[in-house]
Amino acid sequence: MDHVLPNVEWLAGKVEDVQLLLVEPDSDLPSREDVLRLKRIHELHGNTYTVHLPTLKAVDGEKRRHSVETLARVIDLTRPADPLGWTLHVGPSPVAPDTDVERWHEWAVTSVLDLGQLTGVLPHHLRVENLYAADLAPLRRVVSASGCQLCLDVGHVVMARGRPLDAARDHLPVTGHIHLHGVTDRDHRSVAHFPDLSGFLALLEATRFDGVLTMEVFGKEDFESSLEAYARAAREVTT
Ligand SMILES: [Zn+2]
Repeated sequence: MDHVLPNVEWLAGKVEDVQLLLVEPDSDLPSREDVLRLKRIHELHGNTYTVHLPTLKAVDGEKRRHSVETLARVIDLTRPADPLGWTLHVGPSPVAPDTDVERWHEWAVTSVLDLGQLTGVLPHHLRVENLYAADLAPLRRVVSASGCQLCLDVGHVVMARGRPLDAARDHLPVTGHIHLHGVTDRDHRSVAHFPDLSGFLALLEATRFDGVLTMEVFGKEDFESSLEAYARAAREVTT
């Protein structure tokens, strides 16, 4: 967590919401003191937080229960920083070969509901995130059955050669969080590489999207180039 706090302090005055990446429960977890420092940064700068949780396992038995408990521990730890929501991947992917989609669906829904019950977090503050374009339909079923929301990663849609604007049109009504990034030699590159950024922002405006938009890029250079590209595209939308 030592590497996270300086980053949060640097970002706090520059963005409205900071996503905390806590995907490795054995090494990433903040201490109670760290979380109180995050809360103080929020009080000073007014920024909010969203939390990226470890993967929720849609499998049977003890492994699934253990996974739910692990995520619940991260939620309980971070709650004093008052996050707007918690994002998670459901693994294995519903579109992986040999996946029995009906059993996957049942386990995924049960896990999301168990996580809500164990922590007292309302389902719509939990967001299931796509890793591909093709897993949006099965995740959408989980959203419908559990009352959670979608975290729509439009960069992952691009990565999977899908159509990000179509995905947004289809799924924005149940989306509480958007991950935006460009794809070049790999994903999570500057938003400047995102196709039709101004068209995408116009769609968010037209549909009055009021969730969280995270530019999910790593490194100062990609972050600064993303801010510039975003501002340029936003100007195109308003003129
Ligand atoms: Zn993402």
